[in-house]
Amino acid sequence: MKRILITGGAGFIGSHLCKRLLNEGNYVICLDNFFTGRRENIEQLLSNPNFELIEHDIIDPLDVNIDEIYNLACPASPPHYQFDPIKTMKTSVLGIINMLELAQKNNAKILQASTSEVYGDPKVHPQVENYWGNVNPIGIRSCYDEGKRCAETLMTDYRRQKKLDTKIVRIFNTYGPNMTPDDGRVVSNFILQALQGEDITIYGNGTQTRSFCYVDDLVEGLIKMMESDFAGPVNLGNPAERTILDFAKLILEFTGSKSKIVYKPLPSDDPTKRQPDITLAKTKLDWEPKVDIYDGLKQTVIYFEQLLNKK
Ligand code: NAD
Ligand code: UDP
Repeated sequence: MKRILITGGAGFIGSHLCKRLLNEGNYVICLDNFFTGRRENIEQLLSNPNFELIEHDIIDPLDVNIDEIYNLACPASPPHYQFDPIKTMKTSVLGIINMLELAQKNNAKILQASTSEVYGDPKVHPQVENYWGNVNPIGIRSCYDEGKRCAETLMTDYRRQKKLDTKIVRIFNTYGPNMTPDDGRVVSNFILQALQGEDITIYGNGTQTRSFCYVDDLVEGLIKMMESDFAGPVNLGNPAERTILDFAKLILEFTGSKSKIVYKPLPSDDPTKRQPDITLAKTKLDWEPKVDIYDGLKQTVIYFEQLLNKK
């Protein structure tokens, strides 16, 4: 039985990863400071004797015995990571140093949840791992983008200098049940607006693109990466790219909602295009997304409907 630490385990992606790794017979330690994570996400796991919850902030050092670390702790939606940008940067930078030191002490493998945001507003499309990106160092998204870039640097330097077994995955937009309803991301906003008959808020003219991956596919990719001999970085995402306007129409059609589309100002530095090139993940991990957008949206809409019914 492996002892696996998942930081950010009470968050959206982390909660799915905790459940999956528990079901596979591991001992799972979920660490979270509950900044954006929610107890409801892990409620069903708390009675499992192989599950442990540690309320802790990764900017402070930690001492536990573990074989593997998945470092997911970091607010991921723009309104959340921009709420306290200095703290966001500390979470990425001090957090990864603490986790790398812990990995070294335990001789453990460590996987860092990096992001497509390391490519910034990309000039190369679709994004390949050897593209260095186009990131504004002083913009409103920089606390997140540059924090994640710095964490990648630290991962790589600990690998080179201290011979740690490190793995970097660059996650593209992911969606599914357990997303935080008020996190301001496009998937949660559009679905909740459609279900409640509120206006669908498109930022800008809606021509910007994103590529949405269902959370089960993503979790499969994270586990395959941890089990591989590959250090990465590797893109994990669904290459099916769509404009935000098309996505709004898809949500309207899917939910049968009569909501109107309205246009709001585009936040600064909002990337114009985003689509992963997943050739590397296919070759090195034998991974590609399998869940169709309609199946993924079905699960996600059911989840948000249940949340609204509880209100
Ligand atoms: P989330 O906000 O739902 O989860 C993040 C979790 O980390 C939360 O439970 C939060 O409470 C916890 N956390 C934040 N700061 C912490 C700290 N200092 N100490 C301890 N815990 C802390 O976000 P998510 O969508 O599940 O994202 C998980 C990871 O994946 C993040 O690192 C994010 O950057 C990365 N990622 C996500 C996406 C996506 O589309 N969801 C895309 C790219 C990268
Ligand atoms: N967006 C939008 N309406 C919303 C929320 C987001 O048009 O209510 C846009 C946002 O400006 C961006 C895209 O949708 O262009 C994806 O936003 P999200 O915050 O989900 O993720 P990220 O920008 O980090 O990829």
